[in-house]
Amino acid sequence: MAHRENNKWIKSTCAYCGVGCGIEARANRDGSLEVRGDSQHPANYGRLCSKGLALGETVGIEGRLLTPRINQQDVTWEEALADISTNFRHIIERHGKNAVAFYVSGQLLTEDYYVANKLMKGFIGSGNIDTNSRLCMSSSVAGHKRAFGADIVPGCYEDLELADLIVLTGSNLAWCHPVLFQRIREAKANNQCKVVVIDPRHTPSCDIADLHLPLLPGSDIALFNGLLAFLSENRAMNFTYIDQATEGLDLALATAFRFGDIESVQAATGLDRGQILAFYQLFSATEKTVTVYSQGVNQSTSGTNKVNSILNCHLATGRIGKPGSTPFSVTGQPNAMGGREVGGLANMLAAHMDFDNPDHTRQISEFWQTDNLARSPGLKALDMFNAIESGKIKAIWIMATNPAVSLPENQRLSAVLANCPYVVVSDCMADTDTLRHADVALPAQGWGEKSGTVTNSERRISRQRRLLPSPGEAKPDWWIISEVAKKMGFGHAFDYQSEADIFCEYAQMTTLGQETLAPPSSGSGNQRNTVLVLSRPLNLVGLAGLTPQQYHQLAPQQWPVTMCDQPTARLFGNGEFATPSGKAQFIATDHRPPAEQPSSRYPLWLNTGRIRDHWHTMTRTGLSPRLSEHTSEPYLALSAQDAEQFSIEQGKLVKVSSARGSVLLRARISPECRPGQMFAPFHWSDCTTSMGKVNALLAGQRDPLSGQPEFKATPVSVEPSPYQSEALLISQSNHVPDWLSPQEHWTCQRSHNGYIFRITSQQTPEQLHKWLATQQAKRDGRGQQHIDIAQSNQSRYARFHNNQLSVAFIVSNDLQICETDYLSTLVGRPLSDPLVQTLFTGKALPEHQAGRLVCACKQVRANTIAQAVRSGTCDSVKAICQVTQAGTGCGSCLPELQQMLDEAQLKQV
Ligand code: SF4
Repeated sequence: MAHRENNKWIKSTCAYCGVGCGIEARANRDGSLEVRGDSQHPANYGRLCSKGLALGETVGIEGRLLTPRINQQDVTWEEALADISTNFRHIIERHGKNAVAFYVSGQLLTEDYYVANKLMKGFIGSGNIDTNSRLCMSSSVAGHKRAFGADIVPGCYEDLELADLIVLTGSNLAWCHPVLFQRIREAKANNQCKVVVIDPRHTPSCDIADLHLPLLPGSDIALFNGLLAFLSENRAMNFTYIDQATEGLDLALATAFRFGDIESVQAATGLDRGQILAFYQLFSATEKTVTVYSQGVNQSTSGTNKVNSILNCHLATGRIGKPGSTPFSVTGQPNAMGGREVGGLANMLAAHMDFDNPDHTRQISEFWQTDNLARSPGLKALDMFNAIESGKIKAIWIMATNPAVSLPENQRLSAVLANCPYVVVSDCMADTDTLRHADVALPAQGWGEKSGTVTNSERRISRQRRLLPSPGEAKPDWWIISEVAKKMGFGHAFDYQSEADIFCEYAQMTTLGQETLAPPSSGSGNQRNTVLVLSRPLNLVGLAGLTPQQYHQLAPQQWPVTMCDQPTARLFGNGEFATPSGKAQFIATDHRPPAEQPSSRYPLWLNTGRIRDHWHTMTRTGLSPRLSEHTSEPYLALSAQDAEQFSIEQGKLVKVSSARGSVLLRARISPECRPGQMFAPFHWSDCTTSMGKVNALLAGQRDPLSGQPEFKATPVSVEPSPYQSEALLISQSNHVPDWLSPQEHWTCQRSHNGYIFRITSQQTPEQLHKWLATQQAKRDGRGQQHIDIAQSNQSRYARFHNNQLSVAFIVSNDLQICETDYLSTLVGRPLSDPLVQTLFTGKALPEHQAGRLVCACKQVRANTIAQAVRSGTCDSVKAICQVTQAGTGCGSCLPELQQMLDEAQLKQV
């Protein structure tokens, strides 16, 4: 156990994105956790982004699920496990094995994932296990399998530093994979590589772009088909490579040429001729090109074809798996890749084996000693939830994910979950939108308590290590699943003593059927070279015999691993692929527009995604005051032109509607969006806002091959959502105000020592003030001191408990005119504190008028930066960094500093 006896830093891996940064942490006696970047980890060499740096603020027992519960009542583990095994068994007996399902997560460790997959596919005998990676990376999986014969990312992070051209397409790397973005920024400064950003939005990633192509939503295939045609017309293809290593060029090229002339590309993408040609010429002329792609490519009804249209261009130029020259799919989640390795997707078996390969099913059956292996793929995520609705699935076990927020049509699917006969949810938190539908809630260990492995975007397996004791009765996911398996009668196959046992079994499994053969291209008979050729590149033979001690000490390494500590950085560089012929496949990719198109009723495109300082549904990052501060409310970014056309005012509430429903978001008029296009982050849930679950707007249409839904192109309408008053309420209480009426709209944000609620109301300011004050008195009882102050355009209220501020609020008809940023720091301060006194004067002291938080790492606020710029001493971002320290931590705010500088300089012109 990792207490601080030796003052020892323990190496582990960040909980969030697929960069998979190494961290070092040490636990203090008070339960807090210090975290710093691991300077030896090859993913980040010591760097961390704002989320990684704040990991220590997200551990602890606040909000944790501490005991198993059945129907909201605490029970013992024995009772919970018996309930699950009995209900699953009965449902399978009555309705068949496909009447049950697991919906798992890229937050699970590989060992957890492996055991869940083994139970469902190997012993229950159904393919019905799918993962939230379906929403994230499944189009890349399908694209990789079609082109390469296996779900392989051929390159490694070092390629970003070796490239002369980096194409970021459908990837706001600056916010979603910040440490990789910092690596590119540094590489660009050192070797002058060019960066092209292909994205409908002008995202913070454009901060380092030499060229930004703001293409129309969903038009990526047209752009890359045009590139393939351009490469052909300009004799920029590598025919030696194409002849030796690929098949299918003719059909792919014919398809590309059908729409490949520049005019057609212009029409489909909305780009001008000069932009298109500049990109094509750069790509054509630059041998060392890395194309990085992510959710903007994957999350589409033609996501798989988008991936293959990119891979086609790399195959045509022979730029696969070579130093500084490769396509590069970056994964969203910390272990999306690990889940794919062990069969977390419904259509794959573990260890990259396939349902339709009889050798594979035989080998797995023998290895697991089961005669009940699933023989066909199960239902993919959305199909799984639709099958609950139709009554085919009667029990679902959801692990470490929050589909009631993250799935498209989430309001409809929440109702589906509510009506499901039996719902089990394993989670480390006590209240999530999904847990509200659970018949059985199981307390799982959280990050910092679990132990196992994760695989990052460059195929690097790293250890997540235990840093803190588990609170309450929290258990590892693999233990919970194994105990249920034992109670269902499969004990012989799930008698694991530790996560190390499971990892070694999985590593052993990757060696099944792997043979030493010569590659097809290296001759035949006596002329064959003796070369280890892996029929499946995912091979961990070098890790299959680890002792528990070796597992405990395992250093990060990229698969395949034929010998421990001798990992493989790149794959396919020799032109040999994992397809039956050994050749990579060009795929003909037709450009198809998004499934839904804007109409007179829903005339605007909505794009959804992540923001800098939050992760998924905020169950973890939402615990950190500093991460919560950068973006305090769900918002809609829109152009000034659209704002004017639809009478939307900056900072006011806007109602966004689609054919599925409506949400209320705060308007952010911004040059990031082109007219006709909007952006909204998806992180907020029913736990953090009353009407801001953005994915409720999205349709359930999905890619026919990957099953990945369309998250980036939804037709919507917008209109102002007027209100009479608004309030900002700070409170020590972590309870969402159940006393708010449905007429009031609210959002909740974690702050120092408490919470901030932003409330908008149809009541007059006076009515709202009176009502909030009455509710506070009711909640806290009489006898506590409180103060009411009414001023011309605002009223204020403070309530003290033991002479410390416990609740305060400001009510106004327009809070934007009030100085409110400093209020978040008031909770817990005594009445005599000058800062608390300012509550009643209505004016913050100058030293507290620092504005909104810009740099989360160094806690530098907007007014400090603006003052530095105004003073004339800062005429560059570098100077701002030196003077204010902003941007000197993880660097994620550097694009924002540039934006602030640009705006300030514009004002001076
Ligand atoms: Fe964690 Fe940030 Fe690294 Fe991603 S980039 S793994 S969120 S520290």
